[in-house]
Amino acid sequence: MRKFQNFIFITIMISSLSFSCKPGTKLSGNGEQVDTFKYIVEQFADLKILRYQVPGFDTLSLKQKELVYYLSQAAIAGRDILFDQNGKYNLAIRRTLETIYETYKGDRNSDDFKKFMVYTKRVWFSNGIYHHYAKDKFIPEFSQDYFKQLIANSDQTKLPLASGETADKFLAKIMPVMFDPNILPKKVCLEHDKDLVLNSAVNFYEGINQHDAEAFYDKMRNPSDQEPISYGLNSKLVKENGKVFEKVYKIDGLYGPAIKEIVKWLEKAAGVAENETQKNGIEKLIAYYKTGSLKTWDEYNVIWVGDLKSHIDFINGFIENYEDPLSLKATWESVVNFKNVEATHRTEIISANAQWFEDHSPVDGRFKKKQVKGVSAKVINVAQLGGDCYPSTPIGINLPNADWIRKEHGSKSVTIENITYAYDQAAKGNGFLEEFSYNKDEVDLVNKYGFITDNLHTDLHECLGHGSGQLLPGVSSDALKNYQSALEEARADLFALYYLMDPKMVELKLLPSTDAAKAEYIKYIRNGLMTQLTRIQPGKNIEEAHMRNRQLIASWCFEKGKADNVIEKKVKDGKTYFVINDFEKLHKLFGELLKEIQRIKSEGDFEGGKALVENYGVKVDPKLHAEVLERYKKLNLAPYSGFINPEYTLIEKDGKITDVKVSYPVDFIGQMMRYGKQHSFLPTYN
Ligand code: ZN
Repeated sequence: MRKFQNFIFITIMISSLSFSCKPGTKLSGNGEQVDTFKYIVEQFADLKILRYQVPGFDTLSLKQKELVYYLSQAAIAGRDILFDQNGKYNLAIRRTLETIYETYKGDRNSDDFKKFMVYTKRVWFSNGIYHHYAKDKFIPEFSQDYFKQLIANSDQTKLPLASGETADKFLAKIMPVMFDPNILPKKVCLEHDKDLVLNSAVNFYEGINQHDAEAFYDKMRNPSDQEPISYGLNSKLVKENGKVFEKVYKIDGLYGPAIKEIVKWLEKAAGVAENETQKNGIEKLIAYYKTGSLKTWDEYNVIWVGDLKSHIDFINGFIENYEDPLSLKATWESVVNFKNVEATHRTEIISANAQWFEDHSPVDGRFKKKQVKGVSAKVINVAQLGGDCYPSTPIGINLPNADWIRKEHGSKSVTIENITYAYDQAAKGNGFLEEFSYNKDEVDLVNKYGFITDNLHTDLHECLGHGSGQLLPGVSSDALKNYQSALEEARADLFALYYLMDPKMVELKLLPSTDAAKAEYIKYIRNGLMTQLTRIQPGKNIEEAHMRNRQLIASWCFEKGKADNVIEKKVKDGKTYFVINDFEKLHKLFGELLKEIQRIKSEGDFEGGKALVENYGVKVDPKLHAEVLERYKKLNLAPYSGFINPEYTLIEKDGKITDVKVSYPVDFIGQMMRYGKQHSFLPTYN
């Protein structure tokens, strides 16, 4: 599970809790921090490209640096897999756009060419032709005729043609996919009255409808299995000649050429592992990639979750199922990271008190874990992002996802501090906070406590929220089907929100005062009821799980607190604001909703979960939406961010590695073209 940046723009002034001075900032003569690192690189469409630094890399030993280097190579090696998973024409389209970018002989300064570049950058950013967040297809703003002209004036021998295919035939195939809004319009369809599989363009199923897929996997499940494997996680389900079967992702199966490359780097990584446990883990992961066995995948996860000693850590695999409308199949991703020792002190306090939090939560006793096992939490800095974590990246991750492993062996939870820090730096002084705050008090509270409570919210969400609670015996972990992701995120958020205002936070010295929690409450409610709508196109409803979760929580509390005027909708100078009048009552409402959602999860109450999500999390008030978009437009900001990766270079002398250097490119296009050339291993169609 992952957590994305909750609040589109966060502005900070670090107050009583001290954080170390980050690289890239230095103290000027009068003690004020001066930024020397350029965080924002460029902005286009609704996206901006940021950079992050890797503080502490230079303090690693040579062996550790080598390990980061090999794991980073493995993290980029699977990039093509994600493109293909996100849609079967994505690699063809990306390679065509790259050919044009590289070889087009016409005018590169025209408006049309600029539009072509925006489209190309969006495809790179989204790892395909669907919006990375909204999941719907974005259409080029240049004409089909212009596209043909681009092709005609580019090197056609470099187009990704199938054997015997002419350029004209090729264009007739991909142009409707690019330009026709009615063809494969959505990557992931979550409209419950439609066939979710047939209406999703994501490339996990072929020739299959929802019923086929559900029947196929229902047959496999054994409700009494105490250690159920994650059926369907690493395969494409196809129907050929009337027969339904899986094409498994493995070294000699689907996506084999990319997996072979990943394995090559993992083998090198195993050779410089920090300790035996880590080495065993990497070798188990290699075995999984070679066999495709999901039992081996579980064994790997058990080793991985038990590895708490290694300084360097990583994930690499088919992990999250957000892109599958049936929540079975996982996209490929990788994150390489190492521990931020100082900041980890915060999460260690939380982990050490995990049982206390579980025991005191407002949840029904039957649904609580009697013994919370191995909630390990740390703050990390990422060194490399890959697959579904790149360029758009989470700020917190909690794994593994298999419920039985979480219950028996615990989970590892991380907050990614160099990413949240980059977000913070990039958001400074952009006017967003002022525009949507009702008064200066709100602005001041958020400025004073925003960064601390944001990070703490992430810590609580990841290392306690997702790890809390238990299913009743016999309840399947995917009983909530297409509502599972939204409800699971809501559960984790509510756990965090509820405890932020608990006196325990102050007692444990995690917050300077209960007032600090108010900053998070203000931002959360405002975001859930209003500002996250900046991410939604006019006329559209909310589809993405995290966004559904946030609106669900905020609008449920708004409605339930109406009688007591807990949250008040105010209009000033024609602008709408949501103001919290009673923080203590809101705290209680968070507790009530947490109790209900835990019940729904523990009992597998599909209808109850569906009603909550559909009634509170999906529908958008068109009038408020229009107003928010209008106010937001005036700020000229981009609602989504992604990151350029650092680049690592081996320094060798007389055939021996003597050092690994890190550098921070500023060129998004350059990195994308380099990845497309040097880290692309799959055929155009798989
Ligand atoms: Zn989460």
